Amino acid sequence: MSFKDNDYLCPSCKGHLNVGGQLVFATKTERKHKGLILLNPKIGEYSYKAHPKFHLEKGELVEFFCPLCKVDLSAKKQKDHAMINMISDEDNMEYELYFSKKAGNKSTYLVAKDVFQTFGEDAIDFSEFV
Ligand SMILES: [Zn+2]
Repeated sequence: MSFKDNDYLCPSCKGHLNVGGQLVFATKTERKHKGLILLNPKIGEYSYKAHPKFHLEKGELVEFFCPLCKVDLSAKKQKDHAMINMISDEDNMEYELYFSKKAGNKSTYLVAKDVFQTFGEDAIDFSEFV
């Protein structure tokens, strides 16, 4: 699946989170530092961009907020993950895209009706996830 042409939406306000090929989030670290970060939406790509004065410590839990409506993007059941909606360019289906809120944790989950795909070396399996 190609990820660059997909649309990524806030599950609450349905605003677009993808701009210029990156996902934009407002974040807050455990140390209460706030910053905007850009994530590459390509699954398996876990680098981020931020202002040089804003950095995440490995293993730190980061809160992700929609930059538009400020909603906390924490997943309802998996509190240590954030969830956004993804509209696939290929099949026009809406997926739930989960990713770990822990800095440096490499795991992403793509969920839809009858679909559960995991990506990244730190991903856990379905039975642990749900
Ligand atoms: Zn929103």
